[in-house]
Amino acid sequence: MRHARVMAIRCRDCGAPLYPRIFRQWNDDGTVAARFAAGNRVCHIESDALVAITDGLSERIGYPIDRVAIEGQRKATRRLTDDFMSAGHGVFSHIARSRVGSPLTTDIVLGVGRTAGHGLPEVLEYHRGESLRLEIHDPYCVPLVVGDAWGSFESIHNVTAEAAWSAGPDSVTVELKKVRDGMVWEDPLRFQVERIARLPGDVRYDRCGRCGIPKEVTSSISWDLDRGVVTNKVTGRREATVIVESMSALLLELSSELGDEVPFMVQDILKDYTAESIDPETAMEIRSAGYRRALDHLRVRGMGNPVKASCYKGDLSVRIDNPFSGIFLAGMIRGVYLAVEGVEGRCDWAIHPDGYMVLSTSPRHA
Ligand SMILES: [Zn+2]
Repeated sequence: MRHARVMAIRCRDCGAPLYPRIFRQWNDDGTVAARFAAGNRVCHIESDALVAITDGLSERIGYPIDRVAIEGQRKATRRLTDDFMSAGHGVFSHIARSRVGSPLTTDIVLGVGRTAGHGLPEVLEYHRGESLRLEIHDPYCVPLVVGDAWGSFESIHNVTAEAAWSAGPDSVTVELKKVRDGMVWEDPLRFQVERIARLPGDVRYDRCGRCGIPKEVTSSISWDLDRGVVTNKVTGRREATVIVESMSALLLELSSELGDEVPFMVQDILKDYTAESIDPETAMEIRSAGYRRALDHLRVRGMGNPVKASCYKGDLSVRIDNPFSGIFLAGMIRGVYLAVEGVEGRCDWAIHPDGYMVLSTSPRHA
């Protein structure tokens, strides 16, 4: 494949692959930005957490919610790819959507997916602007991978497409076919994701002198570009880079289709998922070293900047600047609390419009 060589380029000093260096920027305020698509944040999330959410929601609601998740992800990916293509006053989009450019753009988008840990895409059949048949090996989460492929195909070719897919044990095949030129944006208002202010931070990463990627990133993330799998070296678990806005759009889509209780369900699912992933030894460590250090990983993952976490007699109080999602973070922190304190307790949290989240948990029930 033509981008195989590009994929193999790594920083001579720290070993970080080329694509994350070109397309991502780790900031000192706990955020990670998608370069070229101004304002779009990305984050690293455990792929099993995403699978737990889609499976857990299906279980609780009583029928498979895959189609709703695919639709949410399709819309979000369309919009991000479109933002990306519009960068450079449309010059890039002109080239990218041209006869020569679009196969290359397709390659780049698929290549970015590989470094994002989304799996290994294999193009089975491609007719420019008309159809694409794609097999993705080791997908990070089937409904999201289908939505990603669908939305990016539509945006790159500026078409509205229909999709069919079938998932096997280790791969998913996606078939996309153009139904009309131009993207039909259904109900664009539903896209409105609240953007909160961004607070400056002083994380002060120790960065690689050559490529600028924080050493904390290269020491905690391992990229297997041949398989399109990203693993966290600390936890040993698989992770994927996702667009923060697409997570919010997904929640919005799921809530509007399935009901207002969805955010609470997602929070509960993440609470249980996180609590189960913490072994008793780690729980002991957190109990003695404090919660603050246990939340440090959020920054490298682009989930926010934990500036405060203190616990006194079971009363935990946390502040996170630039939170990527209140619902996700509340679920995750409640999970840590459950694993460490052994009780669920009562939790209140809110996101301040100035750009930070406060959360407090106490062992006493209301
Ligand atoms: Zn480097």
